[in-house]
Amino acid sequence: MGRLDGKVSIITGGAAGMGRLACERFAAEGSKVVVADLDQAAVDEVAAGLPGAIGVAVDVRHSDQVEALVARAVDEFGRLDVIYNNAGISPADDDTPEATSVDVWDLTFDVNVKGVFLCCKYAIPAMRRSGGGSIVNVASFVAHMGAATPQVAYTASKGAVLSMTREIAAIHARERIRANALCPGPVLTPLLAKFLSDDAKRQRRLVHIPMGRFGEAAEMVNGALFLASDESSYMTGQSLIIDGGITSTYTTPE
Ligand code: NAD
Repeated sequence: MGRLDGKVSIITGGAAGMGRLACERFAAEGSKVVVADLDQAAVDEVAAGLPGAIGVAVDVRHSDQVEALVARAVDEFGRLDVIYNNAGISPADDDTPEATSVDVWDLTFDVNVKGVFLCCKYAIPAMRRSGGGSIVNVASFVAHMGAATPQVAYTASKGAVLSMTREIAAIHARERIRANALCPGPVLTPLLAKFLSDDAKRQRRLVHIPMGRFGEAAEMVNGALFLASDESSYMTGQSLIIDGGITSTYTTPE
């Protein structure tokens, strides 16, 4: 018995990093998976390796493309149970308020906030027709804490994802549509690796992690799997923080 048997899941940002691993894990747990990401060849490659998966190219910033993504999922599999809003960006030139350009701010919010909004906008009616569903929105531990290594647009965007998730949860709770935020700590995917390019930068981050190591993608996907599945059936509007202890801790061990 798979933990997602009979379910249909859309996973955005499914071609790389945590999203790619999530596609593999969700499929292994019995879900039909719609691998959604920017590049058709990349999503096809991920989908080809998975039983009952399809790849759909989408830019989550664009309303018409997201509407078509949800329609394609329903056309192909007849229902929608899970949308895992994992696509996100962290531009290299996101910095302090003074140093961050308006273009970088707008781009970050277009992908990280508007993208999540659009995916919920079109997934919710499809979930309602399926009798309910689970929305998993990827925020970050930085939605809960500030850092002196500034990424002001990214941090603000993840705060917006967290508060949007609570509101969606409240609005749709009686329709059996749940919404929770997954808040990963630092994981060395391509997204973070470009910031922590040398050992000194990595060590500066590690000092603040009680467990003394970065997270693994699999450790985050385990949380998403729980939120997507019926195992979390009484949980909505919550933030699942998987961060090696960062947000719970004021000082770390020597
Ligand atoms: P990643 O960069 O490895 O993968 C992100 C994927 O999203 C890529 O395949 C990319 O093509 C896709 N994507 C980007 N813009 C898109 C768009 N407009 N439309 C569709 N797809 C788009 O990132 P990751 O580290 O696996 O991060 C996944 C999520 O986890 C992101 O939301 C990120 O903010 C969040 N997160 C990451 C970390 C970390 O340390 N890596 C920590 C906390 C939260």
